Amino acid sequence: MTDDPRAPQPSLHPATIAVTTGRPAREPDQPLNRPITMASTYVAGGDVEYGRYGNPTWEAFEVTLGALEGGRALAFSSGMAAVTTVLDLVGHDALVIAPAHAYNGTLLELADLEGRGRVRTKLVDVTDTAAVVGAVEDSALVWLESPTNPALEVADIPTIAAAARAAGAHVVVDNTFATPINQRPLTMGADIVVHSATKYLAGHSDALLGAVVTADDELYAVLKGRRDMLGAVPGTLEAWLAARGLRTLHLRVERAQQNAQELVRRLEGHPAVSQVRYPGFGAIVAIVLAEGTLAADLLCRTTSLWVHATSLGGVESTFERRRRWKAEPATIPEGLVRLSVGVEDVEDLWADLAKALDDLG
Ligand SMILES: *Cc1c(COP(=O)(O)O)cnc(C)c1O
Repeated sequence: MTDDPRAPQPSLHPATIAVTTGRPAREPDQPLNRPITMASTYVAGGDVEYGRYGNPTWEAFEVTLGALEGGRALAFSSGMAAVTTVLDLVGHDALVIAPAHAYNGTLLELADLEGRGRVRTKLVDVTDTAAVVGAVEDSALVWLESPTNPALEVADIPTIAAAARAAGAHVVVDNTFATPINQRPLTMGADIVVHSATKYLAGHSDALLGAVVTADDELYAVLKGRRDMLGAVPGTLEAWLAARGLRTLHLRVERAQQNAQELVRRLEGHPAVSQVRYPGFGAIVAIVLAEGTLAADLLCRTTSLWVHATSLGGVESTFERRRRWKAEPATIPEGLVRLSVGVEDVEDLWADLAKALDDLG
């Protein structure tokens, strides 16, 4: 199979796409993987010319992710680089609809843009489909995250996307939590998918990377032009690590999700836990500690396998109390701990977590 971005094979299943796409041509003595190409410039006369405009190692990641999401991908230096580049497309003083609960970097950026008079924003409860549909009129962009961070609310993407399209607005879905294994927003009516590839796509807590995916050639050209000019391009090693990570995306997501589902079943009966939030898929779980802030902080300090750390989507299980971050909205409970369930053995994960929870009481 060649890795021509215009020739992804949509009939293949995600696991096969993850493993086989974005490889060098199958010719004698070609390597199986795209090498790390360190290049700031290229010999003149080709399609790329300069290192800020493209790189074969980025392309291995982009072609694979594009095929998984059903569009064409562009790699960025981080998830926030992808987010801010997309927000940069919004016209002056235009209206952006966004979730009240979302990745706090996205919410901070929107607040900053609004504070400087760049855009107007309206925050909505994404679970209230009627309210979101009612808000899209006169908007230029509808930003969705589903499930949301860290409240784990799920949006009705097809209904909202159809309403947004009718109102002439573009729809963006931050698909970081779900990954294309669980949700392909471009097939549900979204125009653009955004990823923090730092999380599940790269998957090993060792690289920062972002991505934007679209099936619209015009939008792709505009986004590529913005990346060229804003210059938020990925490091070559990071792109290589993420392309490597994608090869096992389906395995990691499936195992982490199985673990999460089992842990949710057990956590629901634990007396130290007053609430378990889980959308039914994926491997991010939020629990609210019955005894609040102190119990949540103590929990995060007393496990031996679970790592107290921000971020998510790595092979290792991590957790943190989200309100330790000043920017987290006050509507998120103080005692909410977000768990990023990894791919370890679930019995070991439960024993470690259950002991720390038991010790709280
Ligand atoms: C982490 C994250 C981001 C930001 O990505 P970075 O790679 O940290 O810049 C954006 N959206 C979501 C949902 C995230 O979890």
